[in-house]
Amino acid sequence: MARYTGAVCRLCRREGEKLFLKGIRCSSTKCPLSKRSFPPGERHRISRKLSDYALQLREKQKVKRMYGVLERQFRGYFKIAARAKGATGEILLQLLERRLDNVIFRAGFGLSHAQARQIVRHNFVYVNQRRVNIPSFLIKTEDIVVLKKAKQDSLNFIKENIEISKERMRPNWLEVNPAQLEIKILRLPQKEDLQQPVQEQLIVELYSK
Ligand code: SF4
Repeated sequence: MARYTGAVCRLCRREGEKLFLKGIRCSSTKCPLSKRSFPPGERHRISRKLSDYALQLREKQKVKRMYGVLERQFRGYFKIAARAKGATGEILLQLLERRLDNVIFRAGFGLSHAQARQIVRHNFVYVNQRRVNIPSFLIKTEDIVVLKKAKQDSLNFIKENIEISKERMRPNWLEVNPAQLEIKILRLPQKEDLQQPVQEQLIVELYSK
């Protein structure tokens, strides 16, 4: 599965806000966004009011980058959301939140989406006692997600991640048991559960043109 492999701090600078793509560095003084808050390559550009299209495009790019999803897959989520009953934008966000790599990240077992994705790809994750190594796997209510490995030592870095991320608010749609490395899905996530503000209607307007 294709993924973005370029410099990630550029993406935050492009969007003008923290997307938390680098784990511990994002909450430290080393975050480049605090020193260089202008978009890459635009130090001398005069700031202009963005057109409606540019606003819609930026919001879509921001959300894609937050979840580490490329255009084709993101558009696929949009198509599913557009066919479903309910507000398309909110269903789109729910689909993204339900991804297994996102659940691992939100629970604090991974420090970034990229690391959470790697945890899934490296066969650490079991959903309802079945091993799942697909980051885009969608969880559902009452699923039980557990991290396991034959060698207990290989779980040490996850325990360290939990310690580092314990200050971070765990979403209340997840019940996290750090000692057992277990996550129970209490309900499906809603827009209010997002930890960063998203204007999903801009994305709907962009794709509805
Ligand atoms: Fe974004 Fe984190 Fe890099 Fe800061 S350190 S620019 S929040 S990825």
